[in-house]
Amino acid sequence: MRGAVIHAPGDVRFESLDDPKILKPTDAVIRTAVTCVCGSDLWPWRGLDETTDPHPMGHEYVGFVEEVGSEVAGLRPGQFVVGSFATSDNTCANCRNGFQSNCLHREFMGTCQAEYIRIPNAQGTLVALDETPDEALWPSLLALSDVMGTGWWAADAAEVRPGSTAVVVGDGAVGLSGVIAAKEMGAERIIAMSRHESRQKLALAFGATDIVTERGEEGVARIKEMTGGIGADSVLECVGTSQAMSQALYSARPGGNVGFVGVPHDVAVDGEELFYSHVGLRGGPAPVRRYLPDLIDRVLTGRIDPGKVFDLTLPLAQVAEGYEAMDERRAIKALLKP
Ligand SMILES: [Zn+2]
Repeated sequence: MRGAVIHAPGDVRFESLDDPKILKPTDAVIRTAVTCVCGSDLWPWRGLDETTDPHPMGHEYVGFVEEVGSEVAGLRPGQFVVGSFATSDNTCANCRNGFQSNCLHREFMGTCQAEYIRIPNAQGTLVALDETPDEALWPSLLALSDVMGTGWWAADAAEVRPGSTAVVVGDGAVGLSGVIAAKEMGAERIIAMSRHESRQKLALAFGATDIVTERGEEGVARIKEMTGGIGADSVLECVGTSQAMSQALYSARPGGNVGFVGVPHDVAVDGEELFYSHVGLRGGPAPVRRYLPDLIDRVLTGRIDPGKVFDLTLPLAQVAEGYEAMDERRAIKALLKP
């Protein structure tokens, strides 16, 4: 089969690779329906994460079961499945507590920009649909495997409640998905921080009520001005930089909550400041598996359409162009079709 391999910053190639095989009896192999490039894939592309050896890329997927290991029950070849970027047995103590992305048997996905994918912990990770969904829904279902699940977690961790005010820091696919989540959870006011017109439009279409273009201290001042001087009930930090985290923490009111889901890069939090702020802070890799049944239902019934974050569709063979377009911010998120 063929798939994406990163060799160095700015150098992703579409190459021949060994066909994935069942390595453990708990594995499955799926044929990729659609996959995509994640904002976090840009860290190695930009050289901000080191690439020591060439390795496959991609952690988002929906597909058709091709083969299952001897210990996988409830899945059969041909089924359309959605899974998480973090695999889980869905039975251990952490899974039972709803933190499947911290499963004791967790393996992170990392080979999904390919024609076929091996899924560890298949039985606990994959959710099979009753029938193959209309192809028009594939992008939205794909979004659930990471960005929409992560946006949902950001809103959940920030404790968005009906009638509350939520601020979303970051206008990438996760931030935009966070807007959808905040809306679905009943936030009355959703303030999206964005400087890019196409992203502002999408944020408004997803339910944002206000757009703030200022950043840093000016951005915080603007949020305070809009929230009676005290800050927002909930802030979704969807970037992972130090500036975004500061902006999120300072934008929350005393007693408010920040959900942080951007993979942190050199983010330091001042313990004393946090102590006196009375702001609650929770984040980490999203427990996507916990949310999948509910989110799949919302997509299939047309309540949410997170697939709109894909504003570029490419053949999988042109995966490198997807990275380039996202790096240059010509695209929010690139969908890849095998
Ligand atoms: Zn587990």
